[in-house]
Parts: sequence; structure tokens; C-alpha cells
Amino acid sequence: MYVEQKCYRLRGSFNMDVLRQSYAYLVNRHAVLRTSFHHGYSGDSIQAVHQQMQPEFRYLQQEISQLPAYRIADREEGFDLHRGPCMRLTVLELGADEYEFIWTHHHILMDGWCRSVLINEFYHIYNSLLDKVTPSLPAVIPYVNYIRWLTEQDIQRSRLYWEGYLSGYEQVAAIPFGEIPGVGYEGRVEQLLLDKEQVSGISAFCRLGGITENTFMQGAWSYLLSQYNNTNDVISGAVVSGRPAGLEGVENMIGLFINTIPVRVHYDAEMTVQAFLLQLQDSAIDSLPHHAVKLSEIQSCSPLGNRLFDHILVYENYPVDELISDGLPAGAGLNDLSLQSAEVVAQTNYDFTIIIAPASRAEGIQVLFRYNGLRYSERAVQRISAHFRQVLSAFADNAGSALKELCFLGEEEKQTLLHTFNDTAVDYEREATLPGLFRRQVALQPEAMALVFEDRCFTYRELEEQSNRVAHYLRQQGVKEGVMVPLCMERSPHLIVSILGILKAGGAYVPVDPAYPKDRIAYMLQDTGSKLVLTTTGQQALLAAEAAHATLIFVDDIPDLLATMPAHPPVVTTDQDSLAYVIYTSGSTGRPKGVMVIHRNVTSLARGGNFVELSAADTLLSTGSPSFDATTIEYWGMLLNGGQLVLCPEKKLLDNQLLKREIRHRGVTKMWFTASWFNQLVDDDITIFEGLKAVMAGGEKLSEEHIRKFQAAYPATQIINGYGPTENTTFSLTWNIAAIVPGRSIPIGRPLGNRTAYILNSAMQLLPVGTPGELYVGGDGVSRGYLNQPELTAEKFVADPFSKLPGAKLYRTGDRARWLPDGTVEYLGRMDDQIKLRGYRIEPGEVEHALKGLPGIAAAVVTAYKQS
Ligand code: AMP
Ligand code: MG
Repeated sequence: MYVEQKCYRLRGSFNMDVLRQSYAYLVNRHAVLRTSFHHGYSGDSIQAVHQQMQPEFRYLQQEISQLPAYRIADREEGFDLHRGPCMRLTVLELGADEYEFIWTHHHILMDGWCRSVLINEFYHIYNSLLDKVTPSLPAVIPYVNYIRWLTEQDIQRSRLYWEGYLSGYEQVAAIPFGEIPGVGYEGRVEQLLLDKEQVSGISAFCRLGGITENTFMQGAWSYLLSQYNNTNDVISGAVVSGRPAGLEGVENMIGLFINTIPVRVHYDAEMTVQAFLLQLQDSAIDSLPHHAVKLSEIQSCSPLGNRLFDHILVYENYPVDELISDGLPAGAGLNDLSLQSAEVVAQTNYDFTIIIAPASRAEGIQVLFRYNGLRYSERAVQRISAHFRQVLSAFADNAGSALKELCFLGEEEKQTLLHTFNDTAVDYEREATLPGLFRRQVALQPEAMALVFEDRCFTYRELEEQSNRVAHYLRQQGVKEGVMVPLCMERSPHLIVSILGILKAGGAYVPVDPAYPKDRIAYMLQDTGSKLVLTTTGQQALLAAEAAHATLIFVDDIPDLLATMPAHPPVVTTDQDSLAYVIYTSGSTGRPKGVMVIHRNVTSLARGGNFVELSAADTLLSTGSPSFDATTIEYWGMLLNGGQLVLCPEKKLLDNQLLKREIRHRGVTKMWFTASWFNQLVDDDITIFEGLKAVMAGGEKLSEEHIRKFQAAYPATQIINGYGPTENTTFSLTWNIAAIVPGRSIPIGRPLGNRTAYILNSAMQLLPVGTPGELYVGGDGVSRGYLNQPELTAEKFVADPFSKLPGAKLYRTGDRARWLPDGTVEYLGRMDDQIKLRGYRIEPGEVEHALKGLPGIAAAVVTAYKQS
């Protein structure tokens, strides 16, 4: 039931009989007020005009305290459309010359504009009848004139207009946080009062720029909406008067004219505020002749149909409002009346409606956000309200500034995004190197178990000595500070000893997966410019061809030689900023790209990450492929914290029974799983996880269903969502998954210790809570960039505008995300077409490039196909 109610509080004295007569006079004068509605035989609605109809005028005495309840009851009473009348006036005497006039009508009858016309007429009639003169009002122009006008319109032309207007618009611009699932409507209101000062700023702007206040408001809202949706092309709904300018006397006609239309704003961020608003105003003028087209008809001009917009903006500029702002009409009996308050209540069928009522100008402008409390939280709407106020000020104060320079965030909000959400500093050994921190663990507990592989175990001391020997040998072979040393071998103790050995020799390790295509291996060796490769005899055949120019060192073949090397570490000059490793990841231009990670990147993760406890009490079974950066947390998370690192042959990881036995047998406490493998294990044999204290999972979006299953089976086991690109050293954000909110994806959490996260728009401006944008990550995990690719590095690693540290960089992840109110981040997918396939990060461009290299293929397109 769409009932509109407007309440005016008036002070003064009234002649009740004359009021009653005035109302009857009004009803008698306008045929529309004597109508009822019926179903015709053809299924259409028929509006019937009655010669006579009893006016519904009520007069009562009422306690002020009962007023709110009375208003509600009055709205709920509604109207009997079949009988009419569909409007009533209630005058409540509140005592002491105080009255409340409640005008209520069914929306089918007329729009708010009419009510204003009627109220003005009503006062005029009242004054005249008090003076005992005949009211002098213009002749009534019948609504039927409008109906006739409608039938004369060229609908086809209007359709063409709207088709053009809506073309190319495919993504609905949504209000942030409107997706709480649920049905029903619970009316809530948030009020924003623009004070006199702000209003005068807006008025001055409009006057100088030749812009209507309506355009100003619509423009400001559309701009905000575009920011919320990280786009420059948005549509919102707007209510228009629908009174065609060409129809004579239309401004005084009584009936239903208003319509809802889409308002599209498509801008270039370089545009000035002034130019932006003028463009909007021009386009509003162009659309005027097409305002009478039914909304459903307009919606059918877009593929989005009735999803074209999910909210509306109502700018109320009814004639009465101006009148009231100038005081009530002068006349006997009304001279000493003053308007105390006016309140409108209208319900729409949108879950979010903005009503701008410039009614009582003396007090400023009132902006009402009416919303469905079942869909939007009060906090979200308050945030929107604060932003809207901010945009209005920013517009009014910056006519000549480019849109991209505006900021709609309040100071406090900026502080929250920059500092509260990024309050991650924790102490760790920032100046240390990996071998230096490893050696501390050796000193602390030399005989503790550091590494286990099948039937072989190494204490911290043994691992230290063996890797020192390798380091000396590598120095002899020419490895020195900054040299990259490819490492091509399966999981084994040699792998860990070699990694440590390379670092101790001052070099950086480059894991090369022996299972990679030969071409890819050859490329990696060439890209690093390596003269020697550390490998095992098992890979001899493979490397003989691919690494023809490099010296191969078979670490499993030279035990005697290594035994002659000193057991103390060689003296090197590497420090926290030296290169530690290069890990390759897919490149869209056809070649993989090497990510250059420095010592501090790794120590900040393993010692300053502060997201999971890793200590001497822990045992971790490594699952990551040696060429993936998950191994960074696995290897160094154990070796720099005194824990026990367990490696096992790949075949054990792939056999659920063997894997389960390994976890039990070794007393494993912590493990990492890529999301897709985790899901598979949960489905196939959830008992595998028994005994684990903490599970880290991620690398791609986690599945709520599997996490829920896991939590049901292991309520006491910590489960952590680990998110992060290789470029920011394994993890950037993590989330210790607590309860899962149904229908919401699992957050990727907060930046870990000594790391930062920002969600920015395309102009690299901060976006508020709830607004999707690109996730940028910073802090001590940001790697040095891509090997031999300065341009790509400059594109993806940009200066950190929020850091005080000189030279600080942010990495652009290419991931779409948004802040949730509690300071955690929700992952929303990719900005580009990069995919994850069973943990592998793949740029379809790389595959396309490879395909095009084949004879007979001129062009190729690769996309991910998801089998349902
Ligand atoms: P990689 O460099 O191989 O670790 O891949 C990093 C990319 O994987 C990120 O940019 C995300 O697109 C995706 N990713 C990693 N971890 C997660 C996670 N926990 N949830 C969703 N996506 C993830
Ligand atoms: Mg990762």
C-alpha cells in the first residue's frame, strides 16, 4: 500500500467549521479527489469520477505524546480504492493553539507535487471563506488533458532515445553493503541535515555556474556512486515530476505524473566539477521530452532490465515548499500562524531511497536516506551519509578542480584506513640475514632436530656444518655476493643444504622444478645468467642438454670433496637487503618472470609475520613444490624459529594413506595446503588432518563449504586463510578463520606483521570500507621486482604514497578486494584474466604466446573453462 503522508504543525487559532467547508470546497473543485479505482473487463484499471463523494475530513483532540502513534495508525489505515475517497485531511488539536494538519493520500491518486498545489489552494479557500468572499482560483484543468497528450507522444522515438542512453551499460552500480541476503522490508531512516552555511555554499555554486540544485545533488550522488563501484559510468534512479512542459496549465494539474527514470553519468576523471555538472545538466535537458515513458518500458531498452538500478534519488521541489519557506500565505486568520515542522512519509519499492527536501530552507537542506533495515546496516548508511556530505562540500568548494583530485573520505576514516587497519609493526631482527638468524638457532639448540627426510635426520649443528662446507665449495666455484644459483632437484636434504650453502656463499637461490618443460628451464637458466647449476645425479640427463653452457654441480656425488671443506661459514658481505632467492611465476607476455626476493622480505615473514605461532615446539611437513614460494614460510618458518622441518618424496604427498601416516609418525603440528588440495583432502579423507595444531590454506579462494566441514571435524585446530602474491613474499594478509558467516566469502584477513594493505581506485586514491578496488600491498615483504624487467617492475611496484620510509614501494596485486567494517579484507577476484589452476598461477597470455609459436597457428585465445 503506497500511502503518502505529510504533517504540518501549525500554531494559531482556527475556525473548525470553515476548515471543514474549505476542505469540502476543495474536493468539490477537483474531480480527481472524487475518484475510485476498479478493474475493467479487459484487465485494465479504471479510474471512475464520482459526481458526489463524501470528503474525508477529521477533527480530533489529541495528546502530543500520542502523535507518533496516531501518524502511524493513519498511514496504516490506508484507503479503500474501490470506494474512494483516496485522500483525507486530519486536523488534530494538540491544545494551546497548537494543531497538526495531516494530509494523507494514496499514491495512485496523485504525486507530492499535487499535494502542494492542493494545500496552497486550501489555505486560499480558507482565507476567502473566513472573509466571506468567493475564492478566486484559476479554472481547473482536467487530468484527462494529460492522458490525451500521452496518446499523442511518439513512443518509438523515446524508445530509441532510451536505447541510446543506456547502450553499453552492463554492470549495475550498487550501494555498498546492500547484499545481506534476506527478504522483507523493515523501514529505517537516516537523516542528514545540511546546515545553512553548507547550503549557501551550494546555492552560490549553482547560481554562478548556472546549475540547478537538483543537478548538483544528482551529480554529487552519482559521483559518489561511481567511486563506490570503482567505475566512471553509473546509473541511478531518479524521480522526475513527469509534467510535460508543452502541456498547458500542467503545473496546476492534479493527478499522477511523477515517474522514475534512470540517470546515467559517464565521465572522465580529468573533468572539472563544473564541467561534469554542466554535462549532467545538458543530458537531463535532453531527456526531458522522454520522461513520460513508463519505467518498465525504459528498462526494457537495456539488457539489465529491471536490475538497471537498485535505488532512487528523489529531489522534492514542490511548489508549496517555496511558499512555506516564505511563510504561509498572508490573510485574515492565518497571519499569526507559523509552521512548526513538516514531515513527509512515503514508501517506495526500493530498498534504498534518498529524499532531498529543500523544504524548510531556513534550517538548511534535509537529506533522508530511507532504507530497508533488513538489507543495509545502520553503520553502512551512516557512512554513506557522511560521504555524501563530504562530496557535496568538495563539489561546492572546488568548481575548477578535476574530479580525480576530490576526496570524499573524512579525516577519521582516512586514519582508520591508513593506520588502524595497518597497525602491524612488531619487532623482529630487521637487520639480520637468513644465515645469521639460522645460526642463532644453531647456537641456541645445536642438537635439536632441524631437518628430517625419510630415514635421515639433521640436527641444527649438522645442517650448519654441512651447508658451510657447501658454501666454501661454491665460493671456490666462483659464487659470490649477488650471484644467482639455479637449484634443480627433487625434495631431499640436499635441497635444504644447498639453499643454505648458496646463501652462506653470498649468493641467491633460484629453484628450478625438474618437471618443468625443457624450454622453460632453459629460459630460466639463461635469464639468471648462471654459470653453474646445483643439481643431483638424477637430473643429469635432463640438464646435459638444457644447461649446456653451465657447470653442473652434482651435490650428491661429491661427499668426499665437501668433507675437505671448512665447517665454519665463509666471510661474506651480504646483508638484509641482499638478494635471497628468485622465484619464477607466469608472465603474460609469454615468458615467466623472476621475482627477486631479499633477505628482509623473508625474515619479516618468518620472524615478524605475527600471524601464526612458529616455535621450537613445532614440526612442519613441507608440501609446497620447491619452486613455489609457499616453501618460504615452510622452510624458513621452521629453520629460523628452531622448529623441525620435514620433507618427504612427492609420491608420499600424493597418496592419502602415506601422507596421513607421515603426519602421525613425525608428530607434525603445522602445515600448509593450497586451497584446491585442501578441499580434495577434506572430501576424500578428513582424518588426514588429525593431530595438527594449525593449518594454513590458501593460494586461491577458499571454499566455505570445505572450511565448514573442517571446522566441524576439528573445532580446536586453528585454520588460517593465507593470501599473498609471490611478489610480496608468500603472505600479505592472513585470517585466522573464526566463525563462517553464511553467504559471505571467507575474508583474507588483515595485513600480517610489518606489512600493509590498501584498497585503491584507478587514480590510486584510498577507497572506504565496502568499496571494491584494487588491493595494493606494502611493507617489508615487498620484493625488489622482476629480474631483467625494469619496465614491468616499474608498472607493478609503485612508490608507496602512504609510507614515510624513503623509497618504499607498494605492489599492485591485480586482485579486486574490499575492506569489511572490522578491518579485514574480502577477496573479490581478479582485475585481469590471471587464473589459478590447482595452485599454479597462470597468465593465459603465456599460454597464448606458446600456442602462437606452433607452426600453423596465427592467433590464439586462452580462457579458463570451469567444469560444473
Ligand atoms: P602466487 O604468487 O602464486 O602466490 O599467486 C598470488 C595470487 O593468488 C594472488 O594475487 C591471488 O589472486 C591468489 N591468491 C593467493 N592466495 C589467495 C587466497 N587465500 N584467497 C584468494 N586468492 C588468493
Ligand atoms: Mg602465494
